Amino acid sequence: MSEAPHNEQALHLLQTVFGYPSFRGQQGEIVDHVVRGGDALVLMPTGGGKSLCYQIPALLRDGVGVVVSPLIALMQDQVDALAEVGVRAAFLNSTQTYEEASRIERRVRNGELDLVYVAPERLLTPRCLELLEASRIGLFAIDEAHCVSQWGHDFRPEYIKLSVLHERFPAVPRIALTATADHQTRGEIVHRLQLENALQFVSSFDRPNIRYQIVEKANGRKQLLDFIESEHAGDAGIVYCLSRKKVEETAEFLNQSGIAALPYHAGMEFTQRSKNQARFLREDGIVMVATIAFGMGIDKPDVRFVAHLDLPKSIEGYYQETGRAGRDGAPANAWMAYGLQDVVQQRRMIDESEADETFKRVQGGKLDAMLGLCETLSCRRARLLEYFGQPATPCGNCDNCLTPAVSFDATVPAQKLLSAIYRVDQRFGAGHVIDVLRGVDSDKVKQWRHEQLSTFGIGADQSEAEWRAILRQAIALGLVAVDYDAYNSLKLTDDARPVLRGERKIQMRQYQKPVKQKRASTKPKSYVESDLSPAEQALFDKLRWWRVETARKHNVAAFIIFHDSTMREIAKAKPMSLGELRGVTGVGEKKLETYGAEIVALIEAMQ
Ligand code: ADP
Ligand code: ZN
Repeated sequence: MSEAPHNEQALHLLQTVFGYPSFRGQQGEIVDHVVRGGDALVLMPTGGGKSLCYQIPALLRDGVGVVVSPLIALMQDQVDALAEVGVRAAFLNSTQTYEEASRIERRVRNGELDLVYVAPERLLTPRCLELLEASRIGLFAIDEAHCVSQWGHDFRPEYIKLSVLHERFPAVPRIALTATADHQTRGEIVHRLQLENALQFVSSFDRPNIRYQIVEKANGRKQLLDFIESEHAGDAGIVYCLSRKKVEETAEFLNQSGIAALPYHAGMEFTQRSKNQARFLREDGIVMVATIAFGMGIDKPDVRFVAHLDLPKSIEGYYQETGRAGRDGAPANAWMAYGLQDVVQQRRMIDESEADETFKRVQGGKLDAMLGLCETLSCRRARLLEYFGQPATPCGNCDNCLTPAVSFDATVPAQKLLSAIYRVDQRFGAGHVIDVLRGVDSDKVKQWRHEQLSTFGIGADQSEAEWRAILRQAIALGLVAVDYDAYNSLKLTDDARPVLRGERKIQMRQYQKPVKQKRASTKPKSYVESDLSPAEQALFDKLRWWRVETARKHNVAAFIIFHDSTMREIAKAKPMSLGELRGVTGVGEKKLETYGAEIVALIEAMQ
């Protein structure tokens, strides 16, 4: 076995079928390893290019490549995209009729397919395993492999049973892929899927084109609207909320404010949910307001922003959700509004869950890491990457790098806060404690005669919002706990004592009043703007119209025809012949044949 032929064949397929000039990152090595029959574990960020790592080996190896994927709703798009480049692909899942499934099964058995996508529960049926045993299998790709992790956010019990593949098909290479990179999950994947002998390919988890921003929440919805209007007018984006109700309300609010938004959550009727997802994928510039039920495997390349109106439960979740922005490599924003209520709510959800103590401890640790990311005064990206075990230096493309946060010695305010909580006997919630600090004559203050306390009014020099920020950080730092069984009353923890005694100094992030960004705001806007000249922009717009029409005719999503990045390249290069068009990234032989003449004619008509 010599090395060159594989590499040459793989590169040839990459260029002629997919239209890409060269492999990205570790793709080439991974492809080579799997083509030779090796097992692989691939950890690559969203948008890194995982699909090609099994698609090209499936084309090069004898037999059909079996892709295990939990994403039934997206199989159609995946198969459509492959058909567009001339790859013979199909799927097997519960949305099909018996006849349809039988037809696909026949093609698998007869070796007429390059790739077949199968849902895990389907794969595990005796019928499907028998089919695979009667067929020639080139490889197994286990996509979204982090679904085996019981601690994780996407746990699918069927995934654990996928070890059967190794037992029943020991000679078939397996490639497991995920964008979740933490150490624990990686260990679980190896263990559960029996991938001890697999070669591990760990890419950098940095997504340099994503700008991270976490702002203090005042009026979340209004802040979201300002953010969208000032930086993302007309862009596609995803807004994550914690509850179904908030999803509905936020979508309606955005619509009333003139932004095309659709809701998505697991409580919605299936057809409506699918319809909304299809519209988001196929139309330009839709904002999807969703719970975390939405998004796994969404490979819409031109999502320009991901916004969080509520705090995610873990950094893994945050990273995965924000990773859905900017898959095309063009500038994108990850924006989050975060406040005291988020900390209280997330801590309560862990506290009140039915889970056992170990699970709660793990979840508590994950939340603490997430809070650390929100409260950090240094580079957000460095913090994220360090969490995934990758040392990093300040990035220059997050809020803390762009406008360094101001920290201050908060020892005295923290002492005031802790004393106030102590003086009201640790029996009151945030609102009342802050009233006492600020010397507010509320009914409750009068009722309990709290104006007589020594702490009454000792914090009158600071606003309510400032006190909320201090309290939030005190909770995040673990100085204060919230008692959910007793009207959310605030309690001091053991860690509060050294602060009260003056033995421990506390640094906090200075509260910054939310400022409304002007519509024509300078930096962020230019950040996501493209670099096309007016003439190129005109051609690009024309191509977009052509793509909308063509997508409708072929009944596929627009990005399946060409990505924005490909069209941008066409707009710049203005190819006047098929030969010139062939050199553009994303234009393979099949697409050249199908669309080449139309594109060239369209460019000629504009000259
Ligand atoms: P992942 O599954 O890792 O999130 P995908 O496989 O969907 O990522 O790839 C992300 C994007 O990058 C896709 O638009 C894909 O076409 C593009 N891409 C992948 N590999 C290459 C490459 N070698 N050259 C250019 N573009 C690529
Ligand atoms: Zn940074």
